[in-house]
Amino acid sequence: MRVGMIGWRGMVGSVLMQRMREEDDFARLEPVFFSTSNIGGQAPTGAGGLAPPAASDGPTSREAKNLDTVTSRQAQMGAGGRARAGTSGQAPVEAGGKTSTGAGGGAPADARDGATLKDAKNLRELAACDVLISCQGGEYTTEIYAPLRASGWRGYWIDAASTLRMADDAAIVLDPVNRRVIDEAIGRGLRTFAGGNCTVSLMLMAVASLFQNGLVEWMTTMTYQAASGAGAAKMIELVNQMTRLTDPVRKSPSENALEIDRMTIAAQRDASLPTQEFGVPLAGSLIPWVDREMPGGQTREEWKGTAETNKILGLAPTVPVDGICVRVGTMRCHSQGLCIKLTRDVSVEEIEQILARGNQWVRVMPNNKESTLHCLTPTAVSGTLNVPIGRIHKLVMGPLFLGAFTVGDQLLWGAAEPLRRTLRIIREHMGA
Ligand code: NAP
Repeated sequence: MRVGMIGWRGMVGSVLMQRMREEDDFARLEPVFFSTSNIGGQAPTGAGGLAPPAASDGPTSREAKNLDTVTSRQAQMGAGGRARAGTSGQAPVEAGGKTSTGAGGGAPADARDGATLKDAKNLRELAACDVLISCQGGEYTTEIYAPLRASGWRGYWIDAASTLRMADDAAIVLDPVNRRVIDEAIGRGLRTFAGGNCTVSLMLMAVASLFQNGLVEWMTTMTYQAASGAGAAKMIELVNQMTRLTDPVRKSPSENALEIDRMTIAAQRDASLPTQEFGVPLAGSLIPWVDREMPGGQTREEWKGTAETNKILGLAPTVPVDGICVRVGTMRCHSQGLCIKLTRDVSVEEIEQILARGNQWVRVMPNNKESTLHCLTPTAVSGTLNVPIGRIHKLVMGPLFLGAFTVGDQLLWGAAEPLRRTLRIIREHMGA
């Protein structure tokens, strides 16, 4: 099976590459690497897979006729169940997956085939693949997907971007939650699959079982989203801002908290602080706005709550999911404070049991300070497939109102992991 990888050096792509290597996903595959910025450069190592076939299994003549739409333009451009945390101060033990802490892409060429990076806008090269996995972003999908399909390409398209998620002929993939939907989609010939929004996917990894048990009348989710959720360049800017904020204190050490505060705010407000990506300081601050404006006062990130949750779970009637999405100065992991209006009064103990049975990665944490500090933070969760949920208690509004807090690595279950698992599911269906 020839699998084209697009956007493999970005945040999501790097983590996807790492996970595919860890899980040996490249075995018996013929991977082909594409680039928008380094065409002809060296493809990454460790993903050699099969040697390329002697003869090209490229596009049919009908496809070939339609393949130059974008090409000509670019030519000019040159663990199961409930895991109660103790008070040992340990981070949650990971199960059902391996730790992923670093980026995977960008290494020198794989000597096995001397592979070079192909042009990600060359429809002919793309159409020669059975499966394309894009982590390149929505603009790329908008530019390439329609002409590629119009050319007659009938391969599988697996995408991290939001562009195609709500299309009728696309399924949103999160197989621990909606495997049945994915199997049915493949069975009826659907060939376009999109990973869900990162906060929606992580929320569902934690609480889908409550929806599936008919227990959710509505839910609010107040998010705390990491800089890396906005891409590699933004995460780098956050780190540069952090350095600039701590520089003055390092140069003029002070024990006076107000003096340190003054120096930090002065650095944040200094016109020379790098803000090209976020527009404002994020280090030592937050931005209560993620994605673009939508009618009715929501941002698009907030709009995705209802839209994607209901599509992923196939809910009818629609269950409202809404809240305020906030970018915070964390590196990795999206956290969410949930308020759930239950359809009936269910005890906290029963809710915890339902949650713990949801999937093998959810971790139900006891509502105490020790567990919360050590297990329910981005620092504890980053690079793991665990999705802890804690602070579970009834709110003072009444017995139907449940509060909870959940953290998950948005680059894993919120992005890369469902994509690589979808590739596996497709291979299973194809017997490849
Ligand atoms: P990204 O880090 O900005 O990478 C996208 C592309 O940007 C790369 O493939 C690369 O393309 C180019 N790029 C430019 N500067 C780069 C740099 N300094 N380092 C690495 N690559 C750089 O974007 P992303 O966060 O991976 O997001 C990709 C898609 O997934 C988006 O649609 C996003 O909405 C979606 N998504 C992201 C997350 C997340 O947590 N980040 C979660 C869920 C969904 P070339 O190699 O061709 O130059």
